[in-house]
Amino acid sequence: MEAKAAALEKLNASRPNILELSRRIHANPEIGFEEVKAAAWISEALSKAGFEVKTGLCDLPTAFSAKAGKGPLHVVICAEYDALPGIGHACGHNIIAAAAVGAGVAASAVADEVGLTVTVIGTPAEEKGDAGGKILLLERGAFAGAHAAMMVHPAPFNALTPKIIAASMFEVQYTGREAHASAFPELGINAADALTIAQTAIGLLRQHILPTDRIHGIIINGGEAPNVVPAHTAARYIVRGQTLAELERLRPRVYRCFEAGALATGSKLEIMGGDKPYSEMVHDADIAELYKRNSELLGRSFPDIDTATQRAVASTDMGNVSLVIPSIHPMLGIHSLPAVNHQREFTARCVTDSADMAIYDGALAMAWTAIDLATESKLRDRLLSAKF
Ligand SMILES: [Zn+2]
Ligand SMILES: [Zn+2]
Repeated sequence: MEAKAAALEKLNASRPNILELSRRIHANPEIGFEEVKAAAWISEALSKAGFEVKTGLCDLPTAFSAKAGKGPLHVVICAEYDALPGIGHACGHNIIAAAAVGAGVAASAVADEVGLTVTVIGTPAEEKGDAGGKILLLERGAFAGAHAAMMVHPAPFNALTPKIIAASMFEVQYTGREAHASAFPELGINAADALTIAQTAIGLLRQHILPTDRIHGIIINGGEAPNVVPAHTAARYIVRGQTLAELERLRPRVYRCFEAGALATGSKLEIMGGDKPYSEMVHDADIAELYKRNSELLGRSFPDIDTATQRAVASTDMGNVSLVIPSIHPMLGIHSLPAVNHQREFTARCVTDSADMAIYDGALAMAWTAIDLATESKLRDRLLSAKF
């Protein structure tokens, strides 16, 4: 098909710039909502490629949109570019960003010819776990008018429709009362004990939750000095369930564990955030099938997900997009094993030849899939009739 050949040619011409962009983002990791450089570099690359760019989209300084083409079918490609605190691009969002630019540029070459509008939306702070960029952008109308949305994500192995579950991150704060820990301990209210009790209760709760539930967290403030009874402690926790409904069944049980800490010690408990959870992902089967076909043409294969990889569930705010717009979120293998996402070793694997190949394959498979969506009439009509 001529349009696909033209998209391929365009991607080949842009390839050095796109791979360089990936490496530049990787070398300058920025955490969620602080991705100032990455957002500027990505939108600059798209602007140079002829896209109409809006920065500071929906009052989010590190979000942007970049639009090309005037066709009736509007396809959104999501770019992520936030890193993790301390371990850099250990989730390889530099690959996601570069692949999104590549897909956008390749598809833009034929957009008008095939009847496509393509918008790359820069979506900050995916790693946040609550009120992520896509959730805020969805609420504020950035996805209005889109008929389909897609993105790719690096992983140890290819996966067409990875299991993506609901998640909610929240912060817990206890307030007690300081006292000399040796001379006047009876005057203290120990906010660190409150956290210990909560964590013990959560440990016991684990026997009685679904095998698909997840509870995990960190203490971000455990006290100031061993000779002062801690008056202020804080933790960040994430609870996950297969669906938003299962998550909401688990959440109050976990909150009660935190309440137990407050009750036992007399500390005051405050729970903040958690009100904009990530939802489960619904992969659009037709779009996924087209992506699979296009990826297989590039030599990628999607073996059936075995038991081990089935356990490897994660969450993303792309889930929230998928509940309102037909979406896909395939994983791109980068030959990282034994390194897996959120490890330092994975960070190093996100700028290898294999990572570059993933960018190229992901970009082309998304561009070709967008062309298919605009030209395969049955699917196109379904997408057009369900405008968000
Ligand atoms: Zn991640
Ligand atoms: Zn990620």
